[in-house]
Amino acid sequence: MSTPETMRAAVLDEPGAFELRDVPVPDPEPGEVLVRIRACGICGSDLEIRDHGWLQDGTEYPLIPGHEWTGEVVETGPETYHFEPGDRVADETHGGCGYCRNCKRGRYTACLNYGEREKGHKHYGFTVDGGYATYCAIRERNLHHLPEVLSFRAGTLVTTAACSLYGVERADVEAGDTVAILGPGPIGLTAVQCAKLRGAKDVVVTGTRESRLRVAREVGADHTVNVHESDPVEAVRELTDGVGPDVVIETAGVHETVSQAVEMVRPAGRVGIIGNPGEGETPISTQAIVNGDLDVYGVKAQGQNAAERVTKLMTRPEFRTDPIITHEFDFEDLHTAMDAFENREDGAVKVVVTM
Ligand SMILES: [Zn+2]
Ligand SMILES: [Zn+2]
Repeated sequence: MSTPETMRAAVLDEPGAFELRDVPVPDPEPGEVLVRIRACGICGSDLEIRDHGWLQDGTEYPLIPGHEWTGEVVETGPETYHFEPGDRVADETHGGCGYCRNCKRGRYTACLNYGEREKGHKHYGFTVDGGYATYCAIRERNLHHLPEVLSFRAGTLVTTAACSLYGVERADVEAGDTVAILGPGPIGLTAVQCAKLRGAKDVVVTGTRESRLRVAREVGADHTVNVHESDPVEAVRELTDGVGPDVVIETAGVHETVSQAVEMVRPAGRVGIIGNPGEGETPISTQAIVNGDLDVYGVKAQGQNAAERVTKLMTRPEFRTDPIITHEFDFEDLHTAMDAFENREDGAVKVVVTM
């Protein structure tokens, strides 16, 4: 199969100006391969990028967003060694410079050269072109082999589940722990499963939407708390021996839940904050942190090769992706798909487009 000259892509000329059109298929640079994309998940950060641009500097416009995708390698560029045409792959969005102190310690999501392309940093779908297209040229070190048992559709959750795995690892969920997960979105729902597979005994999920809390129970949550019905801090404490959970993972990304995370964890507990509320101030209790002797971890995306490990974890039969990926659209209907995701139409949780 020969590669065509042009491809379909969703191009952001600047925040607010987003359209599907034909563009040239990129040539892979040294170290890169060309992938025929098969499916891409829609993420909350895509909507942020579409409407306001990314929170960090370094984006080059026009930009093709999209960072939760799977596909097949069709061409290998110069100086590539690890992939062949025909390989099924899932992407990893953060491409650190590979040189700075953080990159060398595996903390490449916090690369000290973030956004500086001339120093080797690339954040696919955020600062450089990503996966809302039929092809993407990407460094092979940003790809993971997609196991045969995972479909292209299921594999779109690799990026999301890798965030969750990194979060539960940063907050060191141990066997027998009680864990509260705030927010039953795609990250929360995969975090439930990562926590369980690391041996958590009781997992409580808090949220506002009953349809999503139902999915949380389906994928393994032992208890759910609807925050419209009861105070989440009190309710979670009651469910966790009255002292609070050993670990709280915040995934909702709103100021209120970040504050709740610190309030509800037991003294000497651990808090992992994956969600990012963006603008504004988050009131966090220093009293709770200091007098509670708490460990509070920021979790920036999929650090320390969590994506590679999660592709293996996701092959376990108990890891559920079906209840989370609720909607699928053709790529040509991307705008409709994004609306369905944004407005949570028909209980939409994760929405994917297929190419
Ligand atoms: Zn995402
Ligand atoms: Zn770096």
